[in-house]
Amino acid sequence: MKNQNRPFVFVVCLLTWISCAIENGLLSAETVKQTGWRAAAVSVVITPETAMWMSGYAARDKPSEGKVHDLYAKVLIIEDARGQKVVIVTTDLIGITPELRDPIAASLESEFKIPSAALLMNASHTHCGPELREEKASRRGLGGDRGAEAREYTQALGRKIVAAIGQTLSKLEPATLKYSYGRAGFAMNRRLPTPQGVINSPHPEGPVDQRVPVLSVVRPDGSLMAAIFGYACHNTTLSFYQFCGDYAGFAQEYLEADHPGMVALFMMGCGGDQNPYPRRSLDLAKQHGRALANAVEVALEVKQPRVIQGKLGIAMDDVELEFATPPSREELLKIKESGNKYENSHATRLLEQLEERGGIQTRYAFPLQVIQFGNDLTLVAICGETVVDYSLRLQKELKSGFGASGASEPVIWVAGYSNHVFGYLPSLRVLKEGGYEGATAMIYSSYPGPFTDSVENRVVSKIHELTELARKGAN
Ligand SMILES: [Zn+2]
Repeated sequence: MKNQNRPFVFVVCLLTWISCAIENGLLSAETVKQTGWRAAAVSVVITPETAMWMSGYAARDKPSEGKVHDLYAKVLIIEDARGQKVVIVTTDLIGITPELRDPIAASLESEFKIPSAALLMNASHTHCGPELREEKASRRGLGGDRGAEAREYTQALGRKIVAAIGQTLSKLEPATLKYSYGRAGFAMNRRLPTPQGVINSPHPEGPVDQRVPVLSVVRPDGSLMAAIFGYACHNTTLSFYQFCGDYAGFAQEYLEADHPGMVALFMMGCGGDQNPYPRRSLDLAKQHGRALANAVEVALEVKQPRVIQGKLGIAMDDVELEFATPPSREELLKIKESGNKYENSHATRLLEQLEERGGIQTRYAFPLQVIQFGNDLTLVAICGETVVDYSLRLQKELKSGFGASGASEPVIWVAGYSNHVFGYLPSLRVLKEGGYEGATAMIYSSYPGPFTDSVENRVVSKIHELTELARKGAN
């Protein structure tokens, strides 16, 4: 008797499986055909093979001592039905420098005929990675030729990323793109107003953006090829001497372990004025990584994600930003005599500039980029250590400025720390409030001093301009 029931049970199971699969978007061959995307993702280890000077924290006094886990660069390439591509490279690094991006962009154009504007490079801003900046490594590194080490690592890294891009291009296959988001609560504003000015300390009332945007890339058989996710929070739970991707590294590690065959890519948001709290232990970095991975899992479970359709539109250009009038030669000489070691070394660099160029440069051009996915998603990539105000403002403004009436609003995703991470990019509010991100952090850079009041409007109006172009391109 039992045996007679088996075919029925099997049919019921099969029907249940099919309906579940349809519900969960697993049977997506038809969707894949309709949307016309192709995609591929590749992951490559970039952990330095020898000890190196580490990035972040000016007070470091010795090179790296081993690793907690590997650092990675991840490449995700998405191609629309016309063959236009976007190349997204995320990295477990403190920042992206022109010395790293420029040769990669040049190879992209010469070897693969892909324009530089289609390359989005983002840094997770881990402070437990190698120092890429030759000048900083040689300035801070005590003993040995730390500058040359940074230069050689950067050059080899560029070649590695170009090879990974080539490999990714050879693997493109049909895919469905889906967007949803989760939330994680460990980011908190770190600019606490006090009678003595803004200090670096948890500020529960300060603005945050705790969304975890997730773009998942699904193969025709329903399996996950890649998931790229963002969070607006300094990747600085840790400050020790082992290489480690910090919370973002753990989140990627956990997601890849839980989804074999999937590449997890972390894209840093506008977390310039946000910290992970609590912090300063490996266990906490793992906890924050788990919290972020869980937020991604929730987004992946959302029953009706936004299916991204249409064509790619890409626009990239520099925005020229102004720095406040620099101190005079006399003032710089005075600072050099009387300041602390950081003020001292900043004044020395400006004096050198004055010597070499006959003046201190007060305008610099930095890259901004907008990638439009059909009518569904606007991805903005901002340079510098971008503060959260940019994300909150652009999410409102770019949505309301969208297209013809009746068109459904696109999702707005704002990444910071992209293409050139030169230092802090404050909003007007943060600039006026002063403190570290608004003013004093400049002392660790070669830039003359704080930006002028025009900074936010220059950035935002350039992004509006680029968004319009990218949206036209996606039409
Ligand atoms: Zn930072």
